[in-house]
Amino acid sequence: MIDTIGFDGDDTLWHNESLFSMTQERFRALLAHAADPADLDRRLLEAERANLRVYGYGIKGFVLSMIETAIAVTDGRVPARDLQSLIEFGKAMLDHPVELLPGVAEVVEALSSRHRLILVTKGDLFDQESKIARSGLAERFDAVEIVSEKDPATYRRVLARHGVDPARFVMVGNSVRSDILPVLSIGAHAVHVPYAITWAHEEAEPPDEHYRRIDSVLDLPPLLAAW
Ligand SMILES: [Mg+2]
Repeated sequence: MIDTIGFDGDDTLWHNESLFSMTQERFRALLAHAADPADLDRRLLEAERANLRVYGYGIKGFVLSMIETAIAVTDGRVPARDLQSLIEFGKAMLDHPVELLPGVAEVVEALSSRHRLILVTKGDLFDQESKIARSGLAERFDAVEIVSEKDPATYRRVLARHGVDPARFVMVGNSVRSDILPVLSIGAHAVHVPYAITWAHEEAEPPDEHYRRIDSVLDLPPLLAAW
């Protein structure tokens, strides 16, 4: 019997990666004179991966990685006005309205009456808190956990803090790497709801058992009722 549901935020409850893709498109256009799009994408991803260790996840780290990549691909000749544009891209992302995915508001409301709901999201504390507040979903959740990494130790710690038995917990999320694999490894359940776009860093091979995959969060209530 599953009594506690963990929800991922970005690209599970609300759109996120589409905002990054849109900004990356603007980044390519800004630097089209200096690098071809595929090369630029590769170098930006390299910078983001290298910088995770110092900045963690989030928009601010993404902006610094864009700036670093712009400096590198222009051999240090990128004009200050282009760097200003990159900073503005980041501010536009941080100010962007929170758009819930289809069915999220109804499903979260329906499940909140029967289950304990915990939002487990990773990234920049300030940005995540702001998104949760603007999502209109904060009151539906019994707890909110903003973590810097989603690994087995993090999930164990979160469940222990809330006194949840892993066997009675299901995590719902769009990332196999962050929401599925570490959760299955601690003996809990996981439901994968793929998003249209997956950040290359989050791509991982789906496991072949102990989890379910659904096309939409709307399929979650019947799945839980039958599980
Ligand atoms: Mg996500």
